[in-house]
Amino acid sequence: MFIELVDVLRCLNAHEETWLVLAAERMKGRDVIDGVLGCPICHAEYPISAGVAHFGRSAPAETHSAPPDENETLRLAALLDLTDARGYALLVGETGIHAPRLRDFSDVQLLLVDPPPGIQMGDGISGLTSPAEPALPLAAGSARGVALDDKIQPERLQSALEVLTAGGRIVAPIALPVPSGVTELARDDRHWVAERMPAPRTSGIVSLHRRE
Ligand SMILES: [Zn+2]
Repeated sequence: MFIELVDVLRCLNAHEETWLVLAAERMKGRDVIDGVLGCPICHAEYPISAGVAHFGRSAPAETHSAPPDENETLRLAALLDLTDARGYALLVGETGIHAPRLRDFSDVQLLLVDPPPGIQMGDGISGLTSPAEPALPLAAGSARGVALDDKIQPERLQSALEVLTAGGRIVAPIALPVPSGVTELARDDRHWVAERMPAPRTSGIVSLHRRE
């Protein structure tokens, strides 16, 4: 877990949104290898082990996925528009197999939800295991891009969308309907890609405040 990404992690429990306090036990450069994330409100604890923050079920058994086709990785980088280094992109489930090669093309930090077995954490790749509930333990509007795999629960689409910043890209399998709140940019026989629209204003009037 890249230390700067700790800022976007959130407690899952039902109380006001809060960041988590890190107690790092082992670091490698700027990556947390082992440690504990604690909630300052409800005192829930989420362990970090082998670079992965655990919010739910542990990683699947150690069977290594085959490395992806390089053209598929380039395609994903293009769909997510990872052309500059700012922010982080969320790769959910099997889409995480592209992470090591994506890092060859892009300096964007990659956060893998339920990382596929065999993907090494560190060097721009971070991971978390997801809770059973659809909600993701991430700050709203914090990710520049989100890629969803074929196995995603449809209920998780909405929580993934909430994590996406305005103007950010979401790539999803065509089996999922395009939700409201995004503008579809393109689709082929496998995926659609859409851009999140800015949140609608509750009123047409922008209030101005005098600077103190
Ligand atoms: Zn909490």
